Amino acid sequence: METIPEYFGCMVFDDRIMRKMLAPEVYHTLRLTIDENAKLDVSCANAVAEAMKEWAVSHGATHFTHWFQPLTGITAEKHDSFISPTDDGGVIMDFSGKELIKGESDASSFPSGGLRATFEARGYTIWDPTSYAFIKGNTLYIPTAFSAYSGEALDMKMPLLRSMEALNRQALRILRLFGNEDVKMVRSSVGSEQEYFLIDREVYEKRRDLIYTGRTLFGAEPPKGQELSNHYEGSIKPRVEEFMKDLDRELWKLGILAKTEHNEAAPAQHELAPIYTTTNIATDHNQITMELLKTVAQRHGMVCLLHEKPFKGVNGSGKHNNWSISTDQGVNLLSPGSTPHENVQFLLFLAAVIKAVDDYQDLLRISVAKAGNDHRLGQMEAPPAIISIFLGDEITSVIEAIENDTPYSAEILHSMRPGGLKVLPKFRRDTTDRNRTSPFAFTGNKFEFRSVGSSDSVANPNIVLNSVVADTLRIFADRLEGVENFEHELHILLRDTFRQHKRIIFNGNGYGEEWIREATEVRGLCRFDTTPDALPHMLDEKNIRMFRSVGVYSENEVRSRCEIRLDNYCKTIVIEANTMIDMVRREILPAVETASLELARSTREKEMVGIPNEYEKKLSAKLSMLLQSISDENDRLEEAVEASKGITDVMEKSMLIRDGVFFRMNKLREACDEAERFTARKYWPFPTYGDILFSVK
Ligand code: ADP
Ligand code: MG
Repeated sequence: METIPEYFGCMVFDDRIMRKMLAPEVYHTLRLTIDENAKLDVSCANAVAEAMKEWAVSHGATHFTHWFQPLTGITAEKHDSFISPTDDGGVIMDFSGKELIKGESDASSFPSGGLRATFEARGYTIWDPTSYAFIKGNTLYIPTAFSAYSGEALDMKMPLLRSMEALNRQALRILRLFGNEDVKMVRSSVGSEQEYFLIDREVYEKRRDLIYTGRTLFGAEPPKGQELSNHYEGSIKPRVEEFMKDLDRELWKLGILAKTEHNEAAPAQHELAPIYTTTNIATDHNQITMELLKTVAQRHGMVCLLHEKPFKGVNGSGKHNNWSISTDQGVNLLSPGSTPHENVQFLLFLAAVIKAVDDYQDLLRISVAKAGNDHRLGQMEAPPAIISIFLGDEITSVIEAIENDTPYSAEILHSMRPGGLKVLPKFRRDTTDRNRTSPFAFTGNKFEFRSVGSSDSVANPNIVLNSVVADTLRIFADRLEGVENFEHELHILLRDTFRQHKRIIFNGNGYGEEWIREATEVRGLCRFDTTPDALPHMLDEKNIRMFRSVGVYSENEVRSRCEIRLDNYCKTIVIEANTMIDMVRREILPAVETASLELARSTREKEMVGIPNEYEKKLSAKLSMLLQSISDENDRLEEAVEASKGITDVMEKSMLIRDGVFFRMNKLREACDEAERFTARKYWPFPTYGDILFSVK
């Protein structure tokens, strides 16, 4: 049996393999491309392609694919085999630099939001050398960006890479101001903690809502839910443990640094956290992780639900996006050190994040907006729909001192003994406690953006984070470059920034009603409860201007994304509505009907022999009433879906779907859930919440 260090990354064409298989000058050129964005010429690309193919074929690969991330939110791939015919009727395995660098894909089959005229079907996939190629099954996967014939981005990777480049450019300007000439590259890094549910496959197969929509559209609350909080970090069931073991192995083979796995708050809910890495690689890795969660679960007779809210009344799933910025020399620019008040460079980067998040709260909220996530954010579940920053006591008092021009005294105890017990070792306390209710929390040397949906790519939030921080650093650098008294100007800049943007800092309870009121009425923070409220603000002039100024999106690209995502919202909800209508008509109504007929029979039979039948009469009346209201609500939902059909303006349509269709879905659900409570178990047509949530023994 191989040890983990022996097989870790064995399916990745990583630095170890490159160094071994490439000629020294080719390796050196490729490294320059990866590390410093240097250009890569054709002869070098040919040599890399040849080595990649040799390596892939020796691991059993027969095909290669340009792997990309269109605006559908999932990944796409088109497999080509390596075979190439020879004159004598045979084949050789062939792969050229040209094939490595550029592929062609039919762009008309992917959403483009108006970026592509219908007659222009050509789209290109372009190799991203900064994310290593890997083998899955019999295919060599080459991470690529996806662009239209016009050069506009049709995917998530291209803008993500642009945003990293923008951040690099502006952060370097700042570092030079502090006399730092050695740093060549600044990159953002991400560690994304992934939450998910695991349920038994048999139970899943019986729920068409889960199959079609990934969430339950019906279901009365079970007698036992998460009230006892006895699932969080509880002992892991053997079947789940087997699954996690298998999953870890698969992830490790692909060089994904899966680190922590534990049970989450809700029954059947779990979490997986990797060790952080460069943002675009972390994004690719998270996509692979989501895919493997599903396929490995299947192998274990289970289904992994990645939906943000699979069950009403039970915690939903998110993806905590831990984000930081560091230099190629390994210095984390968001690390305060032991004396944050003296670390001015840290304070400047911190100020940039604070200003950026305040100025672009709307964009951060928008970056995580989708139908599934509305169930979490809009419902003030976790975290709220209002963006604010948690800094913790120490950092907050440092910036208050700067803001008020008062001296800072570091009297906070750093060293503590847990519970005052002498037997436990002393440890250095973190500079911040945890605040689980904050959507954007400083956690010592990184920010944790907690609003991301569990099924979403982390590309969008990181494109926004990188862009807004880059733009803010640009403003800072413009102001500080060439000034006579740098220290003085810096001090003023910090002080003014903290003064102007302190409204975004909130260390209290983000779930409380008082906070909602204070945030919106006193502080004027923006609150968008639903996706149709949020998305149109992508097009606000200030947002388009910012994206253009950092070179991340053209105006057209912003417009296309807004359109595609609103359209996706509409389609998601209509699919859910249609699934409900069908399940009601063909499963729920007949079940309640059978139950009430049965009841009517026993009422009559008891009547005939003179046995008291008050209970039957009462229940019968209740079920008849519910049958009627379910049937009425189903008709109304159907009408609402019909009414939304003719509308072509996607903003108008999304509002109508939210206020018409979605509203009606909730009404219909209420009636059905009520019926579930009054219908004998043997008649109910599909597994209940209790059956599903406790299905994995
Ligand atoms: P928790 O959020 O449960 O406290 P940790 O703080 O240990 O967990 O880490 C959460 C995630 O943050 C992990 O994926 C970790 O790799 C990541 N992380 C740690 N440091 C950084 C960093 N500098 N940049 C980005 N992510 C980081
Ligand atoms: Mg966390």
